[in-house]
Amino acid sequence: MSIPSRCDPGRRRFLRGGAAALGLGLAAGLGLDRARAEGLRPVVVCIDPGHGGHDPGCIGAKGLREKDVVLDVALRVGALLEAVPGLQVVYSRRTDVFVPLAQRLQLGIRQRADLFLSIHADAFPERDVRGSSVWILSERGASSSAARWLAQSQNGDFWDSSAALAGSRELHDVLLDLSRSAASSAATRAAQLLLRALAEVEDLHAAQVQKANFVVLRAPNVPSLLVETAFLSNPEEEKRLRDPDFRALLAQSISDAVLAHFVQAPPSDSRWSSARHAIAPGETLSELAARYGVRPNVLRLANGLVSAQLPAWGYLRVPILHA
Ligand SMILES: [Zn+2]
Repeated sequence: MSIPSRCDPGRRRFLRGGAAALGLGLAAGLGLDRARAEGLRPVVVCIDPGHGGHDPGCIGAKGLREKDVVLDVALRVGALLEAVPGLQVVYSRRTDVFVPLAQRLQLGIRQRADLFLSIHADAFPERDVRGSSVWILSERGASSSAARWLAQSQNGDFWDSSAALAGSRELHDVLLDLSRSAASSAATRAAQLLLRALAEVEDLHAAQVQKANFVVLRAPNVPSLLVETAFLSNPEEEKRLRDPDFRALLAQSISDAVLAHFVQAPPSDSRWSSARHAIAPGETLSELAARYGVRPNVLRLANGLVSAQLPAWGYLRVPILHA
């Protein structure tokens, strides 16, 4: 599960302007005044397309470059999330530029991101290896030789950024005890949702959440994930990744999982909150999804439903979104 070269890339901030738009659910309108009056902040998601600029990442046999594929997927994920009220997306790069790993890591810290999501495509010497995997930070560092290799190649340019490193280390020390375990358990929950969502559109390379000591995942106070979407070294998967429809599908799954995570655990000072909806006879998942401003798949993932069929009775956790 690893590869010849990994690194990472440019940072730009995107503030959602007109996203209130969208007509996503009654809660948006109703909540606007309250959200403003109480000074609530948007939920912040940091999206980090791997590699860029002089660092192409993996390259498929037919020439597809990781830096291009992951940028496209990342921008698609961002566009889907930007359309949701009360959610702000920040990118580490939106173009083909190189951004050092430390800069990516610090972006999440500076923006006080509620979720940092690094997007990559994988490679391995054996060409039949395939599938998605989701990674979170390992406290003890890489726990297997494959993971160590991955972490080393991923961390390649980090040590050149000593100034940035010093800053992040100080912050790390101060915040460590207070926030690391909270961030870590949030990352684990989000990673599990992401795996579940990806399993519906792509084989899983690893059925469990993986752990490694990736630099970009080290922010002590930011729940951080890295997704390896598929294997560029597998000719079949390279072909799939080249297909815009497949990339759109991947992006939709990733976006659904991110939103399901915040339905499950909305940040308490944010414009998102959640409620329990008592299922009434005859209600359908798609009706409720439309009412609460998310896709049916988001409600399904957030509530651990195996199908789109609602149980006859019980409660669903639903989001209350404030623009
Ligand atoms: Zn990569």
